[in-house]
Amino acid sequence: MKKTAILFTVLLSVLQQMKSQNPVVQALLDDVRLDSLTNYVKQLSGEKSVVINGVTDTIKSRHYQNPGNEKAFQFMKQEFIRHGYQIDSMQFSAMGKNLFAIKTGYKYPNRRFMLGAHYDNLPLTTVAPGADDNASGSATVLEAGRVFSNYNFPYTIVFALWDEEEPGLLGSIAYVPTIGSDNDTLLGYVNVDMLGWDSNNDSIADINVRPYGNSLALSSRAQLCNTIYNIKLGLHVVNPGSAATDHAPFWNNNYTAIGIDEEYDNDFNPMWHTPNDVLANFNLSFYQKCAKLAYATIADCARDTINTVGIKEIYKNNLQVKIYPNPFTEKIIVSAEKQNQPISKVILSDCTGRVIFEKQITNAYQEISIQNNLNAGLYFLEVISPNGSFTKKIIKE
Ligand SMILES: [Zn+2]
Repeated sequence: MKKTAILFTVLLSVLQQMKSQNPVVQALLDDVRLDSLTNYVKQLSGEKSVVINGVTDTIKSRHYQNPGNEKAFQFMKQEFIRHGYQIDSMQFSAMGKNLFAIKTGYKYPNRRFMLGAHYDNLPLTTVAPGADDNASGSATVLEAGRVFSNYNFPYTIVFALWDEEEPGLLGSIAYVPTIGSDNDTLLGYVNVDMLGWDSNNDSIADINVRPYGNSLALSSRAQLCNTIYNIKLGLHVVNPGSAATDHAPFWNNNYTAIGIDEEYDNDFNPMWHTPNDVLANFNLSFYQKCAKLAYATIADCARDTINTVGIKEIYKNNLQVKIYPNPFTEKIIVSAEKQNQPISKVILSDCTGRVIFEKQITNAYQEISIQNNLNAGLYFLEVISPNGSFTKKIIKE
C-alpha cells in the first residue's frame, strides 16, 4: 500500500472473528514436528544419508556448481510427490532449476499464496553443509509439504524452492516475471532464509518487509498469527527489510511479500557461508517457532479471504480505487489510491436496492467498522468521490 493511500475499512462481520484462532490452522500447527524438521535439515546438509530414486546417497553440498545441488532437487521433489503434490519445475539457466509443489485450492484455484526458500548454498568446497543457510528454510518448506498435505484450503498454496540465490537471487528473479502468465494471481509470498540461529536465546525473529503490494498488511497478519496461535516469538519488523534474499524480486515487481528470518542485524550467524554451518549450532526451539510462524501465516491467509488481495479498478474521471477481497467472507476494504482523490461516501445495498450501510467519510484515514451479519449473496457497493462515482458488484460468501 502506498504511503499516500487513503484507507478505510468497512467491516461487514464480527471483527472479533479476525482475532481468534482458526481451528484448522491450529490443528495444522499442532502437527508440526521438530524431529521431522531437523531430519530434513540433516538430510539436506549431509549429516544423514538420503535415498534418491532407490539409491542411498549423501548430499555433501548444495552449491549450484556441485552435483549435490541436483541431488537436493531430486530429493525434495521426491518428498513432495510422496506427500501427494503436483510438481512443477523451472529451468532458468544451464544449472539453475526451481522446484514447485502445488496444492490446488478448492474454491479459488487461480489465486495463490506461496511459501519459499532457496536450497543452493555456499561455500564452494567439497563439503558445504549450509544447515542454517538455507537447509533451515528448505526443510521448513519440506515439512510444510508434509503437514499441509492433511488439509484443504480454498486458495491454492505453492511451495517453492529456489536455486542460485547465492550468486544473486537468480532463481526467484527468473520466476517473478512469469507470475500471471497462466492467469494465476499471486496474493502473497512468504520467504524463509536462515531460521536456526538465536545465540542469545531471546526468540526474536525478523519480519523483513517493504511497502510494496500489500506487504505491510501481510506483515501485520504474521504478527497477529504470532499472537493468536501463541507461537511466542519476539518479532522485529524491519522496514525497509533486507533485499539480500528471494523476497526482494517480489517487492521489486510490486507483489506482496515478507521474509521471516533470524535476526540479520543484531544476532547474525558467524558460521554463515562456512563449512561450520551445521545443525549443532541451531537453537532448536527458536527454529521450530520460526517454521510455525511461516506456516501459520500461509495457512491463515489461505483459509480465509485475507485482505492481501487487491485488484485495482479505474473508473470515471480516472478515480482509482481498490475494493478487496471480492468475494469476501468477513470484511471488505475500500482504498483510494490517490490522496487527491478522496472518497466521500460509501453506500452498500442489497440486490433489491435496500440500503444496508451508508457512511459519510469526513476523515480519509478513519477506520469504520460495523457489525452486520450479511447473508451470502450479491450486493452493490457505491463509492462516491468529488471526482466521480461508481457502483461495484460484490459477493458475500
Ligand atoms: Zn540464504
